[in-house]
Amino acid sequence: MRKTLLATAMSAIFALSACSDNTAPTQAETTPSAVENTEVTSSNPFFQPSSLQYQAPDFSAIKDDHFLPAFAEGMSRHMAEVEAIANNPEEPTFENTLVALEKSGEMLGRVARVFYNLSGTDSNEKRREIQSELAPKMAAHSDNINLNPALFARIKTIYDNRNDLELDAESTRLAEVYYERFVRAGAELTEEQKTAIRALNEEHSTLTNKFSQNQLAETKNIAVVVDSKEELAGLSEAQITAAANAANAAGHEGKYLLSITNTTRQPVLSQLDNRELRKRVWEASAYRGQSGEFDSTPIVSRLAQLRAERAKLLGYENWATYGLEAQMAKTPEAVFDMLGSMVPAVVENTKQELADINAMIKQQGGDFEAEPWDWEYYAELVRQAKYDLDEDEVKQYFEFNRVLEDGAFYTLNRFYGVRFEPRPDLPVYHPDVKAYEVFDADGTSMAIFYADYFARDGKRGGAWMSSFVGQSHLLGTKPVVVNVMNIPKAPDGEPTLISYDHTTTIFHELGHGVHGMFSNVNYPTLAGTSVSRDFVEFPSTFEEDWAQHPEVLPNYAKHYETGEPIPKELLDKVLRSRSFNQGYDTLEYMSAALLDMEWHSLSADAPLQNVNEFEAAALKKHGVDLAAVPPRYKSTFFSHSMGGGYSAGYYAYMWSEILAADAYAYVQSRGGLTRENGDHYRKNILEVGNSRPTMDSYKAFRGQEPTTDALLIRRGLKTKVD
Ligand SMILES: [Zn+2]
Repeated sequence: MRKTLLATAMSAIFALSACSDNTAPTQAETTPSAVENTEVTSSNPFFQPSSLQYQAPDFSAIKDDHFLPAFAEGMSRHMAEVEAIANNPEEPTFENTLVALEKSGEMLGRVARVFYNLSGTDSNEKRREIQSELAPKMAAHSDNINLNPALFARIKTIYDNRNDLELDAESTRLAEVYYERFVRAGAELTEEQKTAIRALNEEHSTLTNKFSQNQLAETKNIAVVVDSKEELAGLSEAQITAAANAANAAGHEGKYLLSITNTTRQPVLSQLDNRELRKRVWEASAYRGQSGEFDSTPIVSRLAQLRAERAKLLGYENWATYGLEAQMAKTPEAVFDMLGSMVPAVVENTKQELADINAMIKQQGGDFEAEPWDWEYYAELVRQAKYDLDEDEVKQYFEFNRVLEDGAFYTLNRFYGVRFEPRPDLPVYHPDVKAYEVFDADGTSMAIFYADYFARDGKRGGAWMSSFVGQSHLLGTKPVVVNVMNIPKAPDGEPTLISYDHTTTIFHELGHGVHGMFSNVNYPTLAGTSVSRDFVEFPSTFEEDWAQHPEVLPNYAKHYETGEPIPKELLDKVLRSRSFNQGYDTLEYMSAALLDMEWHSLSADAPLQNVNEFEAAALKKHGVDLAAVPPRYKSTFFSHSMGGGYSAGYYAYMWSEILAADAYAYVQSRGGLTRENGDHYRKNILEVGNSRPTMDSYKAFRGQEPTTDALLIRRGLKTKVD
């Protein structure tokens, strides 16, 4: 699950962070003309802090017309504050520079948090127009701050003298974080180098934009046209009707159209009986963007080279070294070591799965070895033979309110002592959203939490956490946090029954939620989830596993009508089936992560690479070149890596999961669901945010660095620690 574009765009200016498991919204759309606005400023609710508890936004007073004037005024106030700090005639001090910066941009932060949250949860035409109009303005605003030489000179003075200023540890950390942020943006370069950086940045943004446009166009272009209904055997009637409608809409009347989704593997491959058609679908997916009008191979080669050039200008050996420096992993070697240490176990398990699949092919009368387009089809048959799981039967034991209150909230209460009290009096931005006030173990009120769990039009897919107000002792603010999901809601009066996957996602997002709500730092820049992207999924993934804890599950997994606990046999099937196909899932992920790392390990003087040859060599080098298991993404449609946001960063999901699995196993070895364990974890991991290096936090909690054993066990790839 990735940080949202909002988080990426805003974190350069504000301590604002979130996570999402879906593709970030594109900002590449053309910008419509300015949305006219004549709202009187005095009635604009963003012009002053909200008077509601903890400055929770007054959604009942906010209108779309308020956004642009508030952004304009917010940016103008922020820039005036920054100029005043940069041009202060007094000598730079921690107080008059960094503390002043932390206090600046208050109004812009207020409107930005509300706007970007609502454009994710409740988008409409007008909000999309505003978003397009804002994108270049916000980027320029952030450049104007990051490249201000007078401001940087003050930050550098404080940074250079930080050990003589008698600063506390968090303040020292703040000085380091500011200095590194500015340096990494190019603040220390000569004017000539800055010009070169700007040119590379411009080319980079043109190429990544072209990459994503190609990807969109190509995905449409390569949809597979099928002549007859017979070829679609295996699909449901509803899917066949949808394919017929899609073909009609695309001008292929009387035919059927199968669209291609974003990963190399395609969901429809698990269903199609026709092997020839499976091959066509898979090849359309795997070879996309490699030829024709939307060929992205030259873009991929140049992007890799360009990033290496940019890294070199900034004084780094390659892009991965530059990128990793700001992460918990610190170096490319650490990432290669982490992934490499897991390859043997993962490959071994995948080969076992492949053997099962080949056996199933024979059993079905096939006379061939599995190819990539066969894997999901025969894996599904193996799964049915092994587990015989009826999803509808399972769901009867996972009723939404019970999962949330008797499962997730219950766990937080047992582990941390916190309580969630409904606050129906607080305004919400949609009738499906429910507000809670959160109380600490000693009864102190500590946060507002919005629960926004149901799917609706205008809401982005996926699940994420975000903040409306971040915690800061300096600013005197307490957290106002939201969790967002896309659970299909039952009709009025009927219970919403959910899958076990949705159940663990509720726990996951609340893991991010407590990371925000338990934040206990002075400076907003360092609060809560404002940690590196290879750490941010740790607290959320850690929370997931409590869903199946023996003291938690019986408390909520009860039949929605009878209240009977879930039968043990059924539960065992649910849990065992979760480790099914994990070799394949893990290997395709790791192959993509290694490919991403290899692209960004090229040096600036390396020649432009041939994409296919480079890919094949990279996979072979790391021993992950199993023909039947291609990488989850190939370079020409690997938007995490090539689109920019997660370049040299796709490994981060697994890095976080290693921490989560290791931490969970450690807690279980010390008595499990106890207040003592909860408080220890809260104090060392959740409260500190980014106020100290994340590995220091982990070691303070765990007593040592993590190992990958617990992750392999979590994924069912290993049975015990050796
Ligand atoms: Zn997450």
